[in-house]
Amino acid sequence: MLEIGLVGLGTIARAQHLPAIAANPGMQLAAIASRNARLDGVASYPDLAALLAAEPAIAAISLCTPPQGRFDLAMAALQAGRHLMLEKPPGATLSEIGALQDAAQARGLTLFATWHSREAAAVEAARAWLSGKTLSSVTIEWREDVRKWHPGQEWIWKAGGLGVFDPGINALSILTALVPDVVLLRADLHIPQGRETPIAADLHLSAQGVPITATFDWRLAKDEIWRIRFETDQGTLMLDDGGAQASIDGTVLHSGENREYTRLYARFAQLVAAGQSDVDLAPLRLVADAFLIGTHHSTHPFTP
Ligand code: NAP
Repeated sequence: MLEIGLVGLGTIARAQHLPAIAANPGMQLAAIASRNARLDGVASYPDLAALLAAEPAIAAISLCTPPQGRFDLAMAALQAGRHLMLEKPPGATLSEIGALQDAAQARGLTLFATWHSREAAAVEAARAWLSGKTLSSVTIEWREDVRKWHPGQEWIWKAGGLGVFDPGINALSILTALVPDVVLLRADLHIPQGRETPIAADLHLSAQGVPITATFDWRLAKDEIWRIRFETDQGTLMLDDGGAQASIDGTVLHSGENREYTRLYARFAQLVAAGQSDVDLAPLRLVADAFLIGTHHSTHPFTP
């Protein structure tokens, strides 16, 4: 039985992590660390330091806090000899993740940087269909209403919170899982006056000469669009609903229910058992590149 300590009882921890851990017969939620919350029947601590000090038998920590400040928590968990699973993005910077990789490796611990959208129901089917076909272009459209999906989350508007790249990096995680050698050519970042992160972004990328465009926009008031369109020599593959459904020229190839976090925790258990780590920085590198070369455009102030 792998005992897990979970840190940060916010939106994603409650909606996905708690049910996924509960559904895994080889795992047990042994404790939580939360500034505000308590869970009935589960040891609850005000912070990770208190959890680590009181619970030496907990072998693994899952961090569900915002990216800013995650590094100190992650390093504390590794230095206390615990395996570690990170929500996406794995950190606020690339350099801090390198330091975590070194710390995990030096102690023989598992570090798992998760990308939940790669576990969406139709991503594997899309990969299989694309295999052997010649890609001519990719178009990403990732639009949602920030007021619906991120109510009250001030951290997403602060430096390191990624702004619209918080959902956009999910699209980039699918893209980089399916298409090799993606590089960023140009980025336009639309930043509301008085905020530190973009509310929208337009990217131009390339993969071995194949043009890729991405539009990320938080200003959609209607239903969300999480779509990637792959044009090939043998038809058009559409990945919709964040990777849950794949269709070819309008005919559904595969669709399925959301088991993203069930799969992530199963993979975490496998990695721990095998003494391995899984850290792919490709999606975060593209976001970092967008912040490096992106042209900033000031846009209307955002009121929650
Ligand atoms: P959230 O609702 O704001 O929850 C984050 C939790 O982290 C808070 O409730 C708080 O829990 C803890 N926390 C610790 N330090 C904090 C700080 N300085 N500011 C705010 N919260 C702090 O955020 P979330 O949506 O769950 O996102 C957390 C991570 O999961 C992010 O990296 C995000 O990209 C990722 N994620 C989110 C979603 C989604 O749909 N929301 C989906 C996939 C991944 P306590 O009060 O218990 O301490």
